[in-house]
Amino acid sequence: MRYVEPIFRPGPTEGNSYLLQVTIGCAHNKCTFCSFFKNKPFRTRPLEEIKEDLVMARQVYRYDPPVFLIDGDATCYTMDKLRPILQEVRKTFPNSPHTNMYARFGDIYKRYSVEDLKEMKELNVKFLYMGMESGSDKVLSDIHKGVTQAEMLEAAARMNKAGMPFNGSVILGLGGITDSEEHIRESIKVINQMHPVSIGTTVLNLQPGTPLYEDYLAGRFELPTYRDILREERTLLEGIDADMPIEVWTGGFLPGDRFVVGQFPEDRNKVMKAISNRRITNMLLDQKLMIGGGL
Ligand code: SF4
Repeated sequence: MRYVEPIFRPGPTEGNSYLLQVTIGCAHNKCTFCSFFKNKPFRTRPLEEIKEDLVMARQVYRYDPPVFLIDGDATCYTMDKLRPILQEVRKTFPNSPHTNMYARFGDIYKRYSVEDLKEMKELNVKFLYMGMESGSDKVLSDIHKGVTQAEMLEAAARMNKAGMPFNGSVILGLGGITDSEEHIRESIKVINQMHPVSIGTTVLNLQPGTPLYEDYLAGRFELPTYRDILREERTLLEGIDADMPIEVWTGGFLPGDRFVVGQFPEDRNKVMKAISNRRITNMLLDQKLMIGGGL
């Protein structure tokens, strides 16, 4: 098997998946906080190359593994380009439980109809991993996410109509100090309207070399403290009031701070209690977010 490095593994839910590289880098590659693919120029991969990878993978795997499409956003392809890839995966691993991938709300909005999403499902795509980052138009525009709140909601509506499950993740701290309140308020609004299967929170990890880091150096972006992050987290979770169940993943922001997972609304109290019972020193809470602490 071969990869153009660096590659970024998806989370533990895809821990056993065979990673099939269908693009090199990220087609968007403009998010101001993201350093993943800054030094990896984007290119698509010819279908023949992808087929060769699948032949290699078939020789390695003695079973039909779950498959995950990398790099940044396989949905930069239209369905016409994605269809033969998904069909080849199906041919190679007919009993694979799924072929999942990262997807951008902006891509779904621009390129995928409800029918396309239904077809994806038939071709064994069981889950789309989406980076929401924020629901605020101001923050989305500032970070160059390439999608608006309304477009995000439209993309979500199409996925829901097609029965395609997806998640969303909110980056706490992404609005800095100035836009913190709006960032969280609008993120709550979007979560409550878009019906994701799950929502995760992460914390901003400012990376040197990114445009957001330059904004920070120039004084245009003020880093919050961990106390601010925990306040944002609490407000966000308190605001989740969707009319459908949502699995919530949160925490793990500081050393020793464990992840908390719960199904809202029934586990709401359990989750709120767990985040209230964290034992974090005031010294740590008053620190500004760390810079460059890994990806
Ligand atoms: S956050 Fe995602 S869409 Fe944005 S540049 Fe990074 S990989 Fe690409």
